[in-house]
Amino acid sequence: MKILVTGGAGFIGGNFVHYMLQQHREDQILCVDKLTYAGNLSTLADVLDQDNLTFVRLDICDREGIYNLFEKERPDIVINFAAESHVDRSIENPEIFLQTNIIGTSVLMDACRKYGIVRYHQVSTDEVYGDLPLDRPDLFFTETTPLHTSSPYSSSKAGADLLVLAYHRTYGLPVTISRCSNNYGPYHFPEKLIPLMIINALHDQPLPVYGDGLNVRDWLYVEDHCKAIDLIVRKGRTGEVYNVGGHNEMRNIDIVKLICQELHKPESLITHVTDRKGHDRRYAIDPTKIHDELGWLPETTFTTGLKKTIQWYLTHEAWWQDIISGEYQQYYQNMYGGR
Ligand code: NAD
Repeated sequence: MKILVTGGAGFIGGNFVHYMLQQHREDQILCVDKLTYAGNLSTLADVLDQDNLTFVRLDICDREGIYNLFEKERPDIVINFAAESHVDRSIENPEIFLQTNIIGTSVLMDACRKYGIVRYHQVSTDEVYGDLPLDRPDLFFTETTPLHTSSPYSSSKAGADLLVLAYHRTYGLPVTISRCSNNYGPYHFPEKLIPLMIINALHDQPLPVYGDGLNVRDWLYVEDHCKAIDLIVRKGRTGEVYNVGGHNEMRNIDIVKLICQELHKPESLITHVTDRKGHDRRYAIDPTKIHDELGWLPETTFTTGLKKTIQWYLTHEAWWQDIISGEYQQYYQNMYGGR
């Protein structure tokens, strides 16, 4: 099989490329990435010279470029991780989110229609369902929960999901969608909660927590997510959506405290900053469908996953040092003031 992975120089896509190269040596991986601020070729540095991996720098919105690539490479499966993915950035500048997340998805699917594929898989998010109240721990998102987005990011992802399902119904494109909860693990860009707190704590810098920090997220170790996508693409039913969740709800503030404990840093580093506009309170996924149909369950407990993640950041300083010097400095200043 030739598998086209878009966004493979990003966090989850990069982990997925590593996972596939380890688990399915018989497959060819063709990785396409525009290398935006969030894409980092050093994420793939240790595998770039492998015969079964090809990297192409390309924008998924570039219709001609994508068609040419399909003409030449004829992928069997397309897995779309490429996206503008950061909610805060979508609040500052929504337009690029509509471009990449919606137009880019349609370009990829048009190429799939034109050249034929076995499967198009869209990596989506639980944020398309909106949020749940903190005082109703009995409520969870299922695949039939109505889409009810809060941010330009989640709206663009929901728009793309609708388009994917429409391409299935209208053109018979063999699609699947996965909607997952918050991922964490190696190669996670330092603007996201867990790496941000690890790196700031290592530097004895303030740990900026939005609002009261009581917002709840359902955390999923990225390798468990990669396994779920691999299963859905090979065995999931076309036209179907699969929720992928970690069964692991945590309050942001408790995660930051755990990181302080693991790194032996004082909780006095925690500073509460102005809450994100429209900040969702709780996300919680019901992954019953993927468990019942495909036998998937998250395998990594949060305690183990967090220890592994912290260890990874401790042993891969060169990877994140490169990122936090550069454009990221300006972004950080705008969001949280000086370091
Ligand atoms: P990321 O921001 O780390 O990586 C995105 C990658 O896409 C980057 O390498 C970037 O260069 C590339 N990219 C962006 N625009 C592109 C374009 N126009 N053409 C080609 N490449 C482009 O994101 P991530 O956290 O790895 O997320 C991957 C996918 O998973 C996204 O679709 C996201 O919506 C979804 N998701 C992520 C999470 C999470 O917790 N990280 C949770 C749910 C869903």
